[in-house]
Amino acid sequence: TLNPASMRLVMESVPFLKQHGEKITTVFYQKLFSNHPELLNLFNQTHQKQKQQQKALAEMVMSAAMHLQNLEAIAPAITRIAHKHRSLDVKPEQYPIVGENLLAAIKEVLGEKATPEILNAWAEVYSFLADQFIRIETQLAEELLQQPGGWTGFREFVIDKKEKESDVITSFYLVPKDGKAICSFQPGQYISVKMDIPGEKITHIRQYSLSDSPSKPYYRISVKREDGNDQFPAGIVSTFLHNRIHEGDSLMISAPAGDFVLQEKENRPVVLISGGVGLTPLVSMLNTLAERRHDVPVTFIHAALNSRVHAMKDHLRNLAEQHDNIRYFVCYEQPSDEDRRLKNFDKEGYLDLDWLRSLIPSPEADFYFCGPVPFMKVVKSLLGQLGVKDTDMHYEIFGSAIPI
Ligand code: FAD
Repeated sequence: TLNPASMRLVMESVPFLKQHGEKITTVFYQKLFSNHPELLNLFNQTHQKQKQQQKALAEMVMSAAMHLQNLEAIAPAITRIAHKHRSLDVKPEQYPIVGENLLAAIKEVLGEKATPEILNAWAEVYSFLADQFIRIETQLAEELLQQPGGWTGFREFVIDKKEKESDVITSFYLVPKDGKAICSFQPGQYISVKMDIPGEKITHIRQYSLSDSPSKPYYRISVKREDGNDQFPAGIVSTFLHNRIHEGDSLMISAPAGDFVLQEKENRPVVLISGGVGLTPLVSMLNTLAERRHDVPVTFIHAALNSRVHAMKDHLRNLAEQHDNIRYFVCYEQPSDEDRRLKNFDKEGYLDLDWLRSLIPSPEADFYFCGPVPFMKVVKSLLGQLGVKDTDMHYEIFGSAIPI
C-alpha cells in the first residue's frame, strides 16, 4: 500500500504536472531512448513521431495520479495497456528503467519545483503502479500458458495463404511453423507482428486484429497498405507485408491479446459499426455470431470510401443473406460510377443520426465500433444522441490508447 503522505504530495502536484504533461513525456522518451537504445525496438516509432505515445503516457500517468485513492475507476485503462504490454512481451525488469527516466524527466522539466519530497513521492507512486501492471501482465501470461497451444513472447508462423480483399486490404492466413496447436482467442483480439525489415535499423512491432472466428485452424489478419503521400512516407510494416511477404514466408507473432472482445449475452442485440480497415475485429465477431448465435439480432454497418476499397464485401453480404438474424448496411462516402450502376450501397456520404436511427431499433444493445479516430468520435457522439449508454459502447483504437 501507498504511504498517505506520498499519495497526497503526488495528487497535489497533478494540476501543475498536467500543464507540463506532454513536455515531461517528450523529455522522458528522449532520455529513455538515448540511455537504452535497445528499447527503440519495443515502442512504435511512428506513434512517437506523431506524438501519440507521449500524449497517451501523459494521460495515463496523470489519471493514475488523480485516482490513487480509487484505482478501480481507471481499471479498464489499466487492463487495456496491460494487454498491449503482454502482447509486446514487455518484461518486469523494464519497469525500473522506465521509472528512472520518468523521474529524471519530471526533475528536468519542473526544475526547482521538483523538491526531493515530491520526487520521492513520485518514485513511490510509480513503483506502486508498476507493480500493478507487472501483476496483471504476469497473470495474463500465465493464463496463456495454461491454454492448449498458448505461448509467451514471439512464435514463428508461416503464411499459408495470402488473399487480396480489396485494392488496399490483403489477408494473411497464419499457421504455426512447429505444426503444433494454436490457442483460442476472443473475437475482437489482436496479435503483434515483429518485423526485421532489411535496411531498417530497428525492429518494428505492429498490432493486427484477428479477422476470422476462433473456430478456424489458422489466425487471419487483414492489413491495409498505408501508401505514402506528399506529406508522409508510406507505412513501414504494412507495405512490407503487402509487397514483400508471400505465401510460405514466416512472421514472428505474439499470442492473441486485447480487451475489446465480444461479450456474449442472452437475448442482447449486437450492433457492429466499422469504418475502413476497422472492420477486421468486427468481422471476427460477426463470423463468430454467425456460427454460434442464431437467436441474437445482429446489425453490421460498414462505412468505406467506395467498393474498390471495401474488403470482404461478398462474404458480408452472403452472411446477411444466409442468416435471418443478421442485417448488413453499407455507406459509401464517394460511390464509383460502377457502385451507382450496381446500387451496392445503402447510403451515400457520411453516417448521420437519421440513418443510424432508422437502422438501430433500440439503444438497448451492445455496440462495438472501430475505424479511424475521427470516425469513432462521430459514431460515439451519434450513439450518445440515440440514447446508448457509455457502458454499452465498446471500441478499439488502431493506435496509442488515447480515449476518444
Ligand atoms: P507506419 O510506418 O507506422 O506509419 C503509419 C502512418 O503514419 C502512415 O500513414 C504514415 O504515412 C504516417 N507517418 C509516418 N511518419 C509520420 C510522421 N512523421 N508524422 C505523421 N505521420 C507519419 N491495421 C490494419 O491494417 N489492420 C488491422 O486489423 C489492424 N488492427 C490493429 C489493432 C490494434 C489493436 C492496433 C493498435 C492497430 C491495428 N492496426 C491495424 C494498425 C497497425 O498496427 C499499423 O499501425 C498499421 O498497419 C500501420 O503500420 P505501418 O508500419 O505500415 O505504418
